[in-house]
Amino acid sequence: MAAKLEYIWLDGYKPTQSLRSKTKIEKDFSGKLEDCPEWSFDGSSTEQAPGGSSDCILKPVFICKDPQRRNGYLVMCEVLTSDGNAHPTNGRAMIDDDDNDFWFGFEQEYFLWNPETNKPLGFPVNGYPAPQGQYYCSVGAKNAFGRNIVEEHLDVCLDAGLNVEGINAEVAAGQWEFQIFAKGAKEAGDQIWIARYLLERIGEKSGVSINWHCKPLGALDWNGSGMHANFSNSALRTAGKKEIYDTICEAFRPVVAEHIKVYGADNELRLTGKHETASIYDFSYGISDRGASIRIPLATVERGWYGYLEDRRPNSAADPYKVAARIVKTVKSAVVD
Ligand code: ADP
Ligand code: MN
Ligand code: MN
Ligand code: MN
Ligand code: MN
Repeated sequence: MAAKLEYIWLDGYKPTQSLRSKTKIEKDFSGKLEDCPEWSFDGSSTEQAPGGSSDCILKPVFICKDPQRRNGYLVMCEVLTSDGNAHPTNGRAMIDDDDNDFWFGFEQEYFLWNPETNKPLGFPVNGYPAPQGQYYCSVGAKNAFGRNIVEEHLDVCLDAGLNVEGINAEVAAGQWEFQIFAKGAKEAGDQIWIARYLLERIGEKSGVSINWHCKPLGALDWNGSGMHANFSNSALRTAGKKEIYDTICEAFRPVVAEHIKVYGADNELRLTGKHETASIYDFSYGISDRGASIRIPLATVERGWYGYLEDRRPNSAADPYKVAARIVKTVKSAVVD
């Protein structure tokens, strides 16, 4: 039977890359990644190649079922240049984690958005809804907006085999979060991108768009959106003492600029020191501190310094591949013994 393979990749737009995809029909498809052929696309339409030599290559790297499409599969791809090298826009190729020692849990926040009013779901056409406070983890038609989309997205992600760990309504009206955990930095990035793709596609059905911007309501007193990166490697998981956590956290201090560079566009609007964030210009870490750049979860300390760290700075529009690549690089630079 003919299978529908949706090849998904990231375009070359700056400062924020977007999802692109197209369908490939394969007869007698096995369902396996190794049987997904390489493909090509017009890179001159995605800011990835000049018109005169426009072909870019799609290299399949992750596959899962497409639960919403008959005989469908979702195929995440890396973009290669026509000579077969990683394209400069290919963040996944930057990840240096061959043994999958790094585990990542991303908390993806986003707004469900009405493209006609250009406001979140739950916002009236004129003026504002009640100030934030009543929306976080809420229930009821005056508090939680767009749950049908969120629920459908959760079901579809689980049916696809993505490792979603939870969802919750967030602090602003129309704002939600899902969490995905995976062992291996590349796998975590693949799953986040597929989940973003599914959310966008589900929103299409009711004319709701997904706003990934980190501060879509500007400087008003509404929370922005983050993508907290929870991470561990074997050093953090088996540490057993505070000093190892201090050493790894301190490795982040001299490379603030390098991290912020890949933590998403316009992050200075969000990392203000208010709304459970640290200032973009500072670096701090602390136990249970949601106003720090990096939080050491209390449970990690209570277990005797076995666990993980949470970098709270990546924003909702950041590329999880680039975030993970940078965290892996910094953690590996820390000398722990
Ligand atoms: P909070 O909102 O309190 O910051 P969440 O429950 O939304 O926390 O997210 C915590 C994330 O941490 C989860 O996605 C989970 O998968 C992840 N996590 C837990 N343990 C580890 C670990 N050892 N390494 C990496 N991530 C982890
Ligand atoms: Mn054509
Ligand atoms: Mn969370
Ligand atoms: Mn959150
Ligand atoms: Mn968090």
